Amino acid sequence: MTVRAVEVIAEADVVAYHSARHGRSIARSIAERHLRPDHIEERLVYPVTTETTDHPGGYRGAMEEFYAEAAARLAAHLDAGRTVAVLAEGDPLFYGSYMHMHKRLADRYPTEVVPGVTSVSAAAARLGKPLVEGEEVLTILPGTLPEEELAARLMATDAAAVMKLGRTFPTVRAALERSGRLADAHYVERATMDAERTAPLAEVDPESVPYFSMAVLPSRVELADRVELADQMEVPGQVELSGQVDATPEAARGEVVVVGLGPAGPLWLTPEARGELAAAEDLVGYTTYLNRVPMRPGQQRHASDNKVEAERAEFALDLARRGRRVAVVSSGDPGVFAMATAVLEAASEDPYREVPVRVLPGMTAAHAAASRVGAPLGHDYAVISLSDRLKPWEVIAERLSAAAAADLVLALYNPGSRSRIWQVGKARELLLAHRTPDTPVVLGRDIGGPEESVRIVSLADLDPAQVDMRTILLVGSSQTRTVRRGDGTRIVWTPRRYPER
Ligand code: SAH
Repeated sequence: MTVRAVEVIAEADVVAYHSARHGRSIARSIAERHLRPDHIEERLVYPVTTETTDHPGGYRGAMEEFYAEAAARLAAHLDAGRTVAVLAEGDPLFYGSYMHMHKRLADRYPTEVVPGVTSVSAAAARLGKPLVEGEEVLTILPGTLPEEELAARLMATDAAAVMKLGRTFPTVRAALERSGRLADAHYVERATMDAERTAPLAEVDPESVPYFSMAVLPSRVELADRVELADQMEVPGQVELSGQVDATPEAARGEVVVVGLGPAGPLWLTPEARGELAAAEDLVGYTTYLNRVPMRPGQQRHASDNKVEAERAEFALDLARRGRRVAVVSSGDPGVFAMATAVLEAASEDPYREVPVRVLPGMTAAHAAASRVGAPLGHDYAVISLSDRLKPWEVIAERLSAAAAADLVLALYNPGSRSRIWQVGKARELLLAHRTPDTPVVLGRDIGGPEESVRIVSLADLDPAQVDMRTILLVGSSQTRTVRRGDGTRIVWTPRRYPER
């Protein structure tokens, strides 16, 4: 209890507190030695907690009536000139019952909210572990959320506290396991109270878990420091690129995860990808993409040039074979003209056949670019890379013509660079054999990034000089429309209906 809380109780005429029907109140028991015989006690007894109700308005109706009635009781004291202290366990505005009184009374009566020490702070203190350090993010979750939601949030955060355990414990445990965080999770029951209990969460019997307990994932910084220290002792200097390595017991946990970063920025990074990037010991990828991943203590980064995909894939598999947890990063979706294929190609053969590989999807550039103008990919479309670095131009030309003849919308990746510009000119020529000159073309450049630009031109006006490595082209079908809307913006969309033939 804070000094201010003690003062407030001393000055109050009325002390109010919520309780379940059994009548006990943890808040009251904490404040007990500051209560006097001349205090008027107002016990606000919940009509229902978790059981069902026969109230005509259901659970919500029963609660609403209870809060209104409780607020009226406190208002009667206030109207009579009495000062009311409402007791709240932890902090009153942090998942506390008091806030229902606050919402009903604070605009009518002078109100002071006395902040309290939350159970999250208490739990971290009793564990004796740093909770969040530096730029780490702390996420506080009610255990009543669905397992999937919990897992996604746990993957995307550094530290976490999951409150309201009890019956939710098996779900919370499953979510921790699914997010790969179970081994780091601690269990704290009745922190700072008499029957306090702390334990590694994985060892807790679900049957023994009361509501007054929480799961805590403390700071990862300390963890990372330990890994780094262990690494320095085991593998001095740079990891070698090649050479036969015997499988050690350590190698059993090695793995390559190919992670799609999305086209740009954290808004388009999935929680799953974020979690995997944080959990990796080694990050492998093209320098530009690696630079988009936040730095983490204890992680090793292996940046390389854009062109050496096969070597990069083998390098990653080699690290995993030595027991390292490796994330290979790709922009957009790793399976769309990107690293997933390179990794799987190498992993299909010795000596990497046994190395576990997982691919995590990301949002691909075509979808991000399409969203900026509306829905040009709303009907059937084809995805083609214009790069002739890995396939002959004749193949590209054939496919462009075939897709155009089939009246598909086209998403053209790798359309060109400052030096490689003739492909776009040639593609335009091929497409004009099947499409009218006014067919809309969307040029999306650095979508989601700081230099984003989106232009809508007609196929006849498509200028190869306006296309570079960071551009994607979306070419409409015969049905694709451009429309100017009321606010002056132009949108592009392809109807889902196709005319009868
Ligand atoms: N795996 C990536 C594609 C890699 S090929 C994905 O799924 O998006 C590289 C090409 O993707 C670039 O030449 C460009 O055509 C396109 N691209 C990637 N990010 C982009 C962005 N933010 N804006 C526009 N085009 C992008």
